[in-house]
Amino acid sequence: MRCRNCESKAQIYLRSFNLPLCKNHFIQRYIDTVKKTISKFKMFSENDKILVAVSGGKDSMALWYLLLKLGYKVTALYINLGIGNEKGESGYSNMSEKVVREFAKRMGADLIIENVLEKYGAPAPLLDRKRTPCSACGIAKRHIFNSIAMQRGYDVVATGHNLDDEVTALLGNILRWDESYLKSQYPVLHAEDGFAKKVKPLIFLTEKENLAFCMFEGIPFHHDECPFAQGATNITLKRIWAQIEDFMPGTKYRFFREFLKFKEKYFKLEEKKIQGKCKVCNQPTLAGDLCTFHRMIEKVKNKIITGEHFQQSY
Ligand SMILES: [Zn+2]
Ligand SMILES: [Zn+2]
Repeated sequence: MRCRNCESKAQIYLRSFNLPLCKNHFIQRYIDTVKKTISKFKMFSENDKILVAVSGGKDSMALWYLLLKLGYKVTALYINLGIGNEKGESGYSNMSEKVVREFAKRMGADLIIENVLEKYGAPAPLLDRKRTPCSACGIAKRHIFNSIAMQRGYDVVATGHNLDDEVTALLGNILRWDESYLKSQYPVLHAEDGFAKKVKPLIFLTEKENLAFCMFEGIPFHHDECPFAQGATNITLKRIWAQIEDFMPGTKYRFFREFLKFKEKYFKLEEKKIQGKCKVCNQPTLAGDLCTFHRMIEKVKNKIITGEHFQQSY
């Protein structure tokens, strides 16, 4: 098969678009897609200070690399979530940290590292046993990204969410008719009092495209899946999406693009209903005098004081 744009042999076939491409034209298309997304949704400009959330996985590593390559003012933030830390250097979070540290060194890039286990006494997914591991971990990550961005004066937080993540979340939100999530799901969330601006520049690229970009550009990444993700609803929804895409190529992309149009037409992004400030971190709260994260942390503290220890369940 030949590349659609030149005489070279195609090195990747994007089935969703019936598009065979050589390495160079694939990279060109990838970069153009990200640039278009950044400008269409007014995500940031050259003068903005960007904090990019990196996990060590292919998506965030691709984003970090590309923003550096395009000359943006980028600092990466890696949160060591404490997953598998009892296994030492070969544990999930420590392995990811190593990939991120080495890449920062190679690129001469700025990097901030936060450690959840050291700071809060439990791995992020186990901070709240009443929540699913992914939910507790998500709360911790969002809180830490936001607080670092606010404290250190970053203009915007960028994450590596891809099209597969978005359509999976969207399908889940529709299955539950979760109005508040449907209203807030968007490529850019503007800054509000106490909340940093958040953007997802890779939102129109699939996992496969991010993987190919990393391979072609020689970007290192941590290959393992988080051990807590096994059995999570999202994995099932991703499998269902793979089947839909297999029968009807291009559906993922159209589904998300049309959702955004629908949203722009029928409902505007709502401002968060801020109730007050958290007495620990001063971030806005949606209820009471503690933010969601510190309500969770209070519970952890109580457990530690009463001597109830965390059992690692993986
Ligand atoms: Zn080509
Ligand atoms: Zn707080």
